[in-house]
Amino acid sequence: MRLGRPLAPGVAVARAYCPDQGPVHGPARQLDPTKTPDQIRRFESACAAAAQELDARIAHTVAQLGQQNDTTILHTHRQMLADPTLADKVKLAIRDHGLDAGTALQHVLEGYESQFAKIRDEYLKQRVADLRCVVGFVLRHLQGRQSSAPPFGPDEPVILVTHEVLPSHLLLSQHFRLAGILTEVGAETGHAAILARSLGIPVLAGLPGILDEVRTGDMIALDAHEGQVHINPDFEVQTTYRRLQQAEAERRDRLAGNRDQEPVTVDGTRVELLANVNGADDAALASQVGAGGVGLYRTEYLFLTHPGMPDEEEQLATYRAVVEAAPGRTVTIRALDLGVDKSVSYLGRHDEPNPALGVRGTRLLSASPELAQTQLRAILRAGRYGRVSLLLPMVSALEEVRWAKGMLDDARLSLRRQGEPFAEDMPLGVMVEVPAAVACLDDLLEEVDFVSIGTNDLIQYLMAADRTNPQVAHLCEPSNPAIWRVLHRIIGVCIGRGKPVTVCGELAGQPQSFLPLLGLGLRRFSMSPALVPLFKDLVRHSNALEARAVAERLMRMKTAGEIRDCLAEETDRLMLHSCIKF
Ligand code: PEP
Ligand code: MG
Repeated sequence: MRLGRPLAPGVAVARAYCPDQGPVHGPARQLDPTKTPDQIRRFESACAAAAQELDARIAHTVAQLGQQNDTTILHTHRQMLADPTLADKVKLAIRDHGLDAGTALQHVLEGYESQFAKIRDEYLKQRVADLRCVVGFVLRHLQGRQSSAPPFGPDEPVILVTHEVLPSHLLLSQHFRLAGILTEVGAETGHAAILARSLGIPVLAGLPGILDEVRTGDMIALDAHEGQVHINPDFEVQTTYRRLQQAEAERRDRLAGNRDQEPVTVDGTRVELLANVNGADDAALASQVGAGGVGLYRTEYLFLTHPGMPDEEEQLATYRAVVEAAPGRTVTIRALDLGVDKSVSYLGRHDEPNPALGVRGTRLLSASPELAQTQLRAILRAGRYGRVSLLLPMVSALEEVRWAKGMLDDARLSLRRQGEPFAEDMPLGVMVEVPAAVACLDDLLEEVDFVSIGTNDLIQYLMAADRTNPQVAHLCEPSNPAIWRVLHRIIGVCIGRGKPVTVCGELAGQPQSFLPLLGLGLRRFSMSPALVPLFKDLVRHSNALEARAVAERLMRMKTAGEIRDCLAEETDRLMLHSCIKF
């Protein structure tokens, strides 16, 4: 048994799929020079067969799941295969070094891998993983194996084992049932982990060397509550984990019954439980579980899964689908927050020495006014189909808000001129996730209607601790007194000015933070839709007055240790009354 760090909760028992292990080729073979043309022919026909297979998979995906389904990754692989650079390098290695086709292919891949190994850029990392996949397709055909698809049926559950979760991995769930993920590295507030949580897929990270221990097809039992993983467990362990899985499903079903209950504390305080969504499916799930609305719609996923920049009509169709999936409820659409671990190739890559402190969020929008204008027009138009609010990400100065308001005025003017209907009165909010925004909060509140606290970034910038770096994950835990003092200030200022305030970072979905946030006066929590039933149960078993006492006690604490103990004790007490066991 190995212990890892849970990034998304849940239990799974299934076979492993290790796409990053890439192709397995036998020992290098030196060729007799007369065999070179033959090896080049073998390589070319393996490439042609791999291309045919990819075309068939794209056609199959579209036929089975419709045009709406995302085939971007398959198309990317198809383009890579068609790129003559890769083929030319392999042919050169066959000719100049006298290698057989398989060894030459492997050598070229290793060349790319070592070139990119030291680069931290997320986009390039994804491209190398894609390249491994493409080389894998060709190698399998060279070895005479018919299909490069993972050896699983579309309904068979699969546990992905990889170095690090990338957004592209999560799209694998379109091809088979992704039951869980094991990774060597990864952090709780990295975007891939956030996405996995919203898809309800358990993730266990912090398992260095796992790729050397597991092979595709191995049986895995994973418990991402306790942080345990068993590789090829015996029958008894498998049975225990399957029981845990069953108990979890039953608890989920039991909680699903609370969808129509009001989120009100025992002493009558009403709380809003909102959902963080990435698209229409999440928004529909949010409505299904009884969320009070969408507190954060991250529009980045449309851009991340699109082959090029989505135009205004495509954006409108996507935003409208989300708005219509949450009828009668407010949907807070966040303007694009690309950058760091969410980058796209078609915007042109900025080589920044420190992307987390670089051009992201509202800074990226103001550097690309055309992109901003298109998105704002699409959001304003989507506002006609329901109740929509607009949220600005990564705001660090008043001028940025004023700039965005100017852009909104321009967008309204042009829509009006074109006779295009749109929502005239759309509330505008800012994400408070940069310490500078906390310092100038009073001034920002003059300009906006509401605030949403992005604790994932706020904590990383406050603590100077990279949210994607597991080595500093302890500093990002909500036990540091600095975090609570800053939250106290933000929530207090917003309440004092009568401006609605939500927490939409991962902190809002952590049970141990619930009582102190409630005690500080927070009434709007936005979280993964899957967590809403649990939190409704927590709200209905808590007492706002007692929560206030907990928050007051916490504000006097000076160390992370004291806060950790206090939160653990209070959470245990709350759980005693609730039907939830974490
Ligand atoms: C946050 O920073 O807390 C947040 C909600 O935004 P994101 O995680 O998308 O950066
Ligand atoms: Mg953020």
